Amino acid sequence: MNKCEVCGNEYDQTFDVVIDGERHVFDCFECAITALAPVCGHCGCKIIGHGVEAGQHIYCCASCAEQEGVQGLRDHVRAAIIHRPYHEAVLSKSAE
Ligand SMILES: [Zn+2]
Ligand SMILES: [Zn+2]
Repeated sequence: MNKCEVCGNEYDQTFDVVIDGERHVFDCFECAITALAPVCGHCGCKIIGHGVEAGQHIYCCASCAEQEGVQGLRDHVRAAIIHRPYHEAVLSKSAE
C-alpha cells in the first residue's frame, strides 16, 4: 500500500504525479492540489485551472493580475465584454 505524502493516508488506489522528474504520491486530488498547485500572486488561492501568467508571476484570473498592476490582460477582459452583446444577438436571432 502506498502512502499519501500530504495526509499520510495509506490507500490501495493512490496515484503518482511526476513533476521535473520527481515522483509524488497522493490518495486524492485535493491532497495533490494542496502540495503542487501554484498560488495566486494576489488573492493567494490555489490555481487549479489554467491561471494567468504574467512574467514571473501567476494569478488565478485577469482581475487579480490587474489588481497587481498587470495592464496587458485587462484588454482581453474588455474585449470579451465588448463581444458579448454580439453573441447574445446571434443567439436570440437563431432562437426565433
Ligand atoms: Zn492525502
Ligand atoms: Zn487570485
